[in-house]
Amino acid sequence: MFDSVMSLFFEIKSRIVETGQRLAEREMVAGSDGNISARLDMTQFVITPSGLPKGRLRLEDLVVVDMDGKVIEGYRAPSSEIAMHLYVYRNRPDINASVHGHPPFATAFAVAGVRLERDVLPEVVLLVGDVPLTAYAPPGTGAVPESLAPYIKKHSAFMLANHGLLTIGRNLEEAYNRHETVEQYAKILHLARQLGDIKHIPAEDFTRLEQMRIRLEQSDRESD
Ligand code: 13P
Ligand code: ZN
Repeated sequence: MFDSVMSLFFEIKSRIVETGQRLAEREMVAGSDGNISARLDMTQFVITPSGLPKGRLRLEDLVVVDMDGKVIEGYRAPSSEIAMHLYVYRNRPDINASVHGHPPFATAFAVAGVRLERDVLPEVVLLVGDVPLTAYAPPGTGAVPESLAPYIKKHSAFMLANHGLLTIGRNLEEAYNRHETVEQYAKILHLARQLGDIKHIPAEDFTRLEQMRIRLEQSDRESD
């Protein structure tokens, strides 16, 4: 029992290191930007340390914290965005992983104050859903979770005004994939706008895809 829990924790930590590498390889973080976390169980989660390049983390750099943000394991300071990660886990029992980066296209939209349209790419409607643009909050402060408050219950991706992107998921793979999907979507929208008007998918197809996503999320919640 103890061994299997330890090997599960080891696997989750290894996946955080790997997710940091993927964020860096895809240029969705620069310098020491970004942070990643994942639940170990309902009482604790593991988070990246503050101020280190997220593409070059070692397992021992990671920090385990409890649901009050108290460090349980690790010798580094946890991410400066720990309040944001705590807020996600406290408000979304269905969510087990969070990825925060500063991907250039999505962040450009968040800087320009331009919201991503919700009904343009079918995969985005199905896999991510609507992406709200939160009110500006200085990074690393308690204002960041406050800015998520109106949206946290119903959304899986959040554009943080003048800052970056936060995506959440049932596991690290899903949270990371949503990061890539939103960034790619922002890039495509930006390119499409240079070619002319944006065409929207038909309203009935948008509704069908929305309902499919909601059904998928509900069935996963029930099977948990
Ligand atoms: P940390 O290195 O403290 O996690 O901060 C990076 C960041 O992106 C802050 O918003
Ligand atoms: Zn940030």
